[in-house]
Amino acid sequence: MAYPAPPSTPYSRLWRRLLEPGFEKLRGKRIGEVTALLEQSQSWDLARLQDWQWSQLGKLLAWAKDKVPYYQDWFSQNRLEAREVVEQRDLSLLPLVDRDLVSARPELFRAAPLPAGSIQKNTGGTTGAPMRLKLDPYSNDWRTAVTRRGYGWAGAHNGNRMLMVWSTDLIPPSPQALRKRRLHHLLLRLHNVSYMNILSPADADLVMRSVDRFKPLAIVTYPSAAEVFCQRALDTGWRPRHKPFGVITGAETLFPHQREMLSQVMQCQVFQTYGSREFMLTGCECQAHDGMHVSEENLMLEILDGERPQGPGQLGEVVITDLHNFAQPFIRYRIGDMASWHSWEVCSCGRAHRRLGQVEGKVVDMIQAPDGSKLTGHFFPHLLKDFDAVERYQVVQQNLESVTIRLKLRSRLEDGERDYILNKFREFLPGVEPTIQEVDEVEIAPTGKIRTVIGLGSSSQPKQAGADQ
Ligand SMILES: [Zn+2]
Repeated sequence: MAYPAPPSTPYSRLWRRLLEPGFEKLRGKRIGEVTALLEQSQSWDLARLQDWQWSQLGKLLAWAKDKVPYYQDWFSQNRLEAREVVEQRDLSLLPLVDRDLVSARPELFRAAPLPAGSIQKNTGGTTGAPMRLKLDPYSNDWRTAVTRRGYGWAGAHNGNRMLMVWSTDLIPPSPQALRKRRLHHLLLRLHNVSYMNILSPADADLVMRSVDRFKPLAIVTYPSAAEVFCQRALDTGWRPRHKPFGVITGAETLFPHQREMLSQVMQCQVFQTYGSREFMLTGCECQAHDGMHVSEENLMLEILDGERPQGPGQLGEVVITDLHNFAQPFIRYRIGDMASWHSWEVCSCGRAHRRLGQVEGKVVDMIQAPDGSKLTGHFFPHLLKDFDAVERYQVVQQNLESVTIRLKLRSRLEDGERDYILNKFREFLPGVEPTIQEVDEVEIAPTGKIRTVIGLGSSSQPKQAGADQ
C-alpha cells in the first residue's frame, strides 16, 4: 500500500491476532475467515472483485428464487432463471425494491424457513420510516469484518484506544448487560460519550476532556456532533494534548466546512464513511481521502438514473444488493440516497474498490431549547424504531418552546405508547413541549426526500449544500 499503516499498539496486535479470534471462534462466529479474505481482496483488481460479486450474487438469487416468497413469484412470473443473471446489463432484468414495498409485506421478503440463528434488527433510520429486518449470522459476521477493515484504515483497530461520540440507549440496560458491555469496552479499549443531548457548551467540554484523558488513537462521531464540539474548541482555544491518528464520521453527510473544522481542531486526518442500518458500512475513505471505497466484497452498489447506470460524476439513485444476507435478501434495494461515482481509476492507495464521490445522503437537524441546549435529530429514529404502529415520522420545531412529532400510523398508537414518546422527549430536552400530530402523509421536499427532522435552522445544514434533502 502507498500509505503507512495506521499505528497499532502491542495490546491491539495481541487482541486482534489472538484474543479476539479465540473468543469469536468459541462463539461460533466466522468473522476471522471473512477478515482474512478482506485482507487479501484489498490487492485484487476490479475484474477479480467483480467476479467475486457475481459468484456471490448467483448463490443469493438461487436462494431467493427457492426460499423467498416475493422472488419465488417474481421468477416464476418472469420466466427467468437465477443463473441467467451473469453480467451488469442483466441486473436491470431484476426488480427494484424499496423500503415502502418491503415494509408493507415484510414476510414476503424473508426466507422461509429463516436460516438458523437469524436475528432481527430494528431501524428507525434517518429516512423517517422505521423498519424491521432479519439478518442471518454469517451476514452479521460479514458486516462486522467489513466495518473493522474500514475503520482500521483510520486507526480504529479493535484494541487501539477509540472514542465514540455517538448515540446511546434511551432505556438504560440491565445491570448485568451494563457490566458485560463495560467489560467488553474495557477489553476493546473503547470509550463512549453519549451524543444525544450534550450540545450545550458545557457538555461539549466533556468531549474535550475525554480526548485528553482517554488519549484515543481514533474518534468516531457524527459530523453534526463534531461541529458542536469543534466550535466550542475553536472558541476556547482547546487543542488535544495527544493527537489522534484519525477521526471517522458516519451516519450523515460530511460537509467540507465540518471536515475542515475537525482537522483543524483535532489536528489529524478525517475519514468520511457512508452506511445505513440495512447494510452497515457501505463506503469508507482510505488515507488518500479521495472518495469512499465501496465494500464491494459484501455489497453490489449501483448508481442509477431510472434504470440507466451513471458514470463518474453523474448523480443518481443509490441501489444496493447485499450479497450475504440470506435471511432477508435485499436485492436492488433503493436506499433513498443520491450519489455519484468518484472515478473508475485505481486509488493512489492501491485498492481497486470503486469509490463514491458525492453522497447526498442524510442531513440531520437539531431541536433547540430556550436555554441553548439542543437535541440531535438522531434521537428520533432511536425513539420510534420499536413502535409497530409508526409507518413514517417527521419532527418539526415551530418555535423554541414547542415541537410537533408528526406520525403517519399504520395502526392505533396506544395511550401508553403516546405518553412514552412524549415523556422520553421531555426527559432528553426539558423546556420544549412536544405534541403528537397524526397525519395522512408527511411532507416531501422538492427533491423527493422526506426531511425527518426540521429544526429552527442548524449550522450543519448550509443552504448551499443540500438544504432540501
Ligand atoms: Zn484508497
